Amino acid sequence: MDYDVIICFETHVELSTNTKLFCGCAVKYDAEPNSAICPVCTGQPGALPVLNKKAVEYTIRTGVALNCEINEQSRFARKNYFYPDLPKGYQISQYELPFGENGYLEITGDAGQPYKIGIKRIHLEEDAGKLIHSSDAFESAEHSLVDYNRSSIPLLEIVADHENNPLRSIKEAKRYLEKLHQTLKYIKISDCMLEKGQFRCDVNISIHPKGSHILGNRSEIKNMSSFRFIMDALEYEIKRQTEIIEKGGQVEQETRLFNEQTKVTMPMRSKENAPDYRYLPDPDLIEVDIDQEFIRQIRKNMPELPDQKLNRIIEEFGIRKSDALILTKDRNVSEFFGACAPLCSDRKKLGNWIIKELFKLLNDASIPIQECKVSAEDFSRLINLISQKTITEKIAQLVLEDMFDTGDNPDAIIKKKGLKPIDDTEILSKILDEVIEKNPEALKQIKAGASKPVDFLMGQVMRRSKGKADPQKIRSIILAMTDNC
Ligand code: ZN
Ligand code: MN
Repeated sequence: MDYDVIICFETHVELSTNTKLFCGCAVKYDAEPNSAICPVCTGQPGALPVLNKKAVEYTIRTGVALNCEINEQSRFARKNYFYPDLPKGYQISQYELPFGENGYLEITGDAGQPYKIGIKRIHLEEDAGKLIHSSDAFESAEHSLVDYNRSSIPLLEIVADHENNPLRSIKEAKRYLEKLHQTLKYIKISDCMLEKGQFRCDVNISIHPKGSHILGNRSEIKNMSSFRFIMDALEYEIKRQTEIIEKGGQVEQETRLFNEQTKVTMPMRSKENAPDYRYLPDPDLIEVDIDQEFIRQIRKNMPELPDQKLNRIIEEFGIRKSDALILTKDRNVSEFFGACAPLCSDRKKLGNWIIKELFKLLNDASIPIQECKVSAEDFSRLINLISQKTITEKIAQLVLEDMFDTGDNPDAIIKKKGLKPIDDTEILSKILDEVIEKNPEALKQIKAGASKPVDFLMGQVMRRSKGKADPQKIRSIILAMTDNC
């Protein structure tokens, strides 16, 4: 039998505010355990929360970017559960009246058409602390440690809607995650570093017979922060659920955990429902009124979104869509391109050189573009030197490597390394003579009308000159030579 798949994400994103959601403690990821804490974020009796306005601004900015309706009134609620990393015994979250509802994120659907994935709600809550179960620092394996530095860092929860344009395949799920991650980085509300747990997903998945209106029971896989593992887990779940149904069984509604080593999901607990959390409005926090002027300012100052940037790069600079997609995938790359484009006469060359040459160096060094020493001005200068044929592409590669290592500008490097191209006819002719002496056949073939040996001879001259010969010049000398004979 064939099945339809429904996938739905709840994504938690740590906001990049300077301070926590309800106190003045700094948001620090690499600090000593329990060095960024206070009575409020460790839940001491009598300590009262004060809402961080920046976190509200970031939440609404996200709501606007995800096409949500922004509620004029919003409310915080206590979500009760007991866990050692949650000192108050409840998490301050939102239940009724979240900041944003009924939005969407547009992706490319499997049929190649734009597809608007429904976003049910986005709300703001506090993160929990972190349990450390095993560490070399342990005296005894009988204890677990808890670090409250993360406790009460602002956490945005983005809940996709499984009833309104849900994701229908693993491929769509991947596109949604990539687009969401990209969008949140573009609007600068979070660094979204997966390895630091700043972007974490719970994923729901169910299957039902193709065309049926009765949906299957969902299983939820908790707390995933690697796109690859999410895809592996979804693949496993589709297989597991299909097998259960084929055998005449019923899929349990439950929460499962993905084992990264065995690539298998295992039951964790039966899924809790909202009543289990005994949500109640938090009496320590008043309702938040969002005035229209605040929203208008946020709209006005909204950074360019990925699709806008993509279209602009294509239209304004004539970049091919396939290249533009690569150049806009990461906000920092797109900003680098954006800084170079007005300074370069040949934008296609600029795009190519970022994608082929600069990416290779970044990759080899395993650093992101924002840590690269090459400035937009210097990179643009290099591209212009190539466009003006002042240096060959071969030499430009050497120059770029040096720029990448030292941060020097291209002109200084060309001078320092004596990389100025050889365009002196006399010197080039001399090298060419040596080459022809070793390869007399090539010349004969050219005279007989063959064109390939021209490239061969040019290649040989290039090699002998260590890439410094001006290719146009050699070509014209070869042609002049064979014409005259
Ligand atoms: Zn604190
Ligand atoms: Mn949550």
